[in-house]
Formats: sequence, C-alpha cells, structure tokens
Amino acid sequence: ENILEVRDLQYKYSDGTHALKGLTLGIKQGKSTAVLGGNGAGKSTLFLSLNGIFKPTAGEVLFNGIPLDYSRKGLKELRKSVGIVFQDPDKQLFSASVYQDISFGAMNMKLPEEEVQRRVNIAMERTGIVHLKDKPTHCLSFGQKKRVAIAGVLVMEPEVLVLDEPTAGLDPLGVSEIMKLLKELQKDLKLSVVISTHDIDIVPLYCDYTYVINEGKIILEGTPKEVFSHP
Ligand code: ADP
Ligand code: ADP
Repeated sequence: ENILEVRDLQYKYSDGTHALKGLTLGIKQGKSTAVLGGNGAGKSTLFLSLNGIFKPTAGEVLFNGIPLDYSRKGLKELRKSVGIVFQDPDKQLFSASVYQDISFGAMNMKLPEEEVQRRVNIAMERTGIVHLKDKPTHCLSFGQKKRVAIAGVLVMEPEVLVLDEPTAGLDPLGVSEIMKLLKELQKDLKLSVVISTHDIDIVPLYCDYTYVINEGKIILEGTPKEVFSHP
C-alpha cells in the first residue's frame, strides 16, 4: 500500500553538498504524510527526487513498487502521477489568466480541447477559484496563487500530490483553508498527499503520518501522536 517508496536514497549536488544521506521512507496510498525538518534538512531535495526531477546518486525511488524510469518517456508519465506544488507559486505560474495557467499541464498532455476544459473547470471548482478564471495570475493574492498552482497540478489527475511548504507565507486563516482543501482532495479524490512544513501545529490536525529529517536522514517517524509525544 506504499504508493511511493524511497530506499537508502542519497543525493549529492554538483558542488559536492551531500543533501540526502541514505534516506528510507514510504508514502501510503490515500494518506497524508508530513515531512518535517529545519532549513537545509533535505526536504526539497527529497521532494524533487520523488517525481524524478533529481536522479539519486545512490539508492532508489519506487512508484507502485516499480523503480522510477528516468527516460524522457518514463519521466513524462511519472509527472502525471506525482504532481509537485512548489513553495513559491510564482515559479509555477506563467500565463496571462488563471484559466490559461491551469490548462497548461493538461494541454501538455495533448488532451482534446473539451477534455482540457472539463478538467480545468473541475480543478477550479475543487480549489474554489472559479470566480478568478479570467484574472491575470500576477494580480492574485499569495493564497489565491497557491490554489491556482494546486489546480494546475490537479488537471493532470495525479495519484500523489507533493507540496513543498504549502502553508508558508499564509496567515492563520489561509493556513487552515489550504489544509482543509488538501484534506478534501485526499478524501474525495483518494489522493496521497505529501507536505513539508515548519508549521508543526497543523500536523496532528491534518496528517496521518510524519517523518522528521535532519541533515539528509530520517531521525524520527510515526503518527503525529507518536512523534510529538517523543521525549
Ligand atoms: P488505519 O487504517 O487504522 O487508520 P493507517 O492505514 O493510517 O491505519 O496506518 C496503519 C499504520 O501504518 C499506522 O499505525 C502507521 O504507523 C503506519 N502508517 C500510516 N501512514 C503511514 C505512512 N505514510 N508511511 C508509513 N507508515 C504509515
Ligand atoms: P530543505 O528543503 O529541508 O530546506 P534542501 O533540500 O533545500 O533542504 O537542502 C538540503 C541541502 O542541500 C542543504 O545543505 C542545501 O544548502 C543544499 N542545497 C540545496 N540546493 C542546492 C543546490 N542547488 N546546490 C548545492 N547545494 C544545494
């Protein structure tokens, strides 16, 4: 029931920084998993390894029990199944309007126009941004941009949604709104949700399982209850 599995993963950047030093974890199908750790712990490097953007220096990543295929075709397939939402939505948004931005991923999949429209409309409804359809993305609030970025991944109908710091930069109301949205997506679409966060208060409320990483290694794991009652 692990949709993603990471085995003894190591990753070294070209400058020699050893960001992941033998990391092993499992992401359960249909559950919500939190990855905690301070700045530089390796969370982003791990996330970019989950959908093949980074190829491990050693160790492996498996999707549905099968090691990732790093060929162009393999990666294209994988990115439909494992969608990533980056911390800074401006890195993910480029177009004139909200509608166009969300449709980008679906157009890339070369889907028929009606199917693109159908998926974009559903994604906008799910993320509560139908009313922003024709707005230029650059004039939206940070929280609205986050929703557009999430909708842009949902159009690919992924099985796993990986979000780097989805609550960073949001006010308390924005935090609970985005986490409620992710919980709905998890329940309604049976999505597996993986988030990294500094915001430990949200973890017991919204996440089923927690990994704590430090210096490229798992130092603690368990249900939020287990992890937060650790001495
Ligand atoms: P239940 O179906 O009883 O709610 P879960 O399926 O959430 O239980 O989890 C069963 C056990 O698997 C839990 O005790 C937990 O320790 C472990 N577990 C849950 N989620 C994950 C995960 N993402 N990664 C690894 N282990 C997990
Ligand atoms: P986190 O997301 O937990 O803050 P990162 O995965 O970004 O951690 O970083 C892990 C380690 O890798 C840190 O030591 C960081 O400085 C380093 N690192 C991140 N990106 C690069 C890069 N492009 N080149 C070299 N080192 C990097």
